[in-house]
Amino acid sequence: MNEPSVFTRILEGEIPAEIVAETPNAFVIRDIAPQAPVHLLVIPKTPQYRTVVELAEGDPALLAEIVALAGRMAREHADGDFRLVFNTGPNAGQTVFHVHAHVLAGSLEEKSTG
Ligand code: 5GP
Repeated sequence: MNEPSVFTRILEGEIPAEIVAETPNAFVIRDIAPQAPVHLLVIPKTPQYRTVVELAEGDPALLAEIVALAGRMAREHADGDFRLVFNTGPNAGQTVFHVHAHVLAGSLEEKSTG
């Protein structure tokens, strides 16, 4: 049996992290090393899919939920516009093999002062 992923350990409270949003099938945390003013990770609770391709093939409805939740996070934490990144495979920079969507966006504060 594989070791639980860092995201499963966060979900189970073994590693501290603020859960920004939670639905029956997914949860959202802030990336510990943000690459944009808003950098959230949208993560299915199930650890069974390692990549977005496995998720698309195994549970397309859950993938749609992840994308919809990403959109909701971008509206709530930024102006609604965002980049959605799924690093897929180690050669593409994936380091955690529990599928997750990076939501990268600007901050509302930057916009309002501009
Ligand atoms: P990947 O490189 O697999 O696409 O993305 C994994 C992401 O998880 C990285 O951006 C990394 O900063 C983030 N990450 C890794 N460990 C932790 C952690 O313990 N807490 C949080 N909040 N993010 C983490």
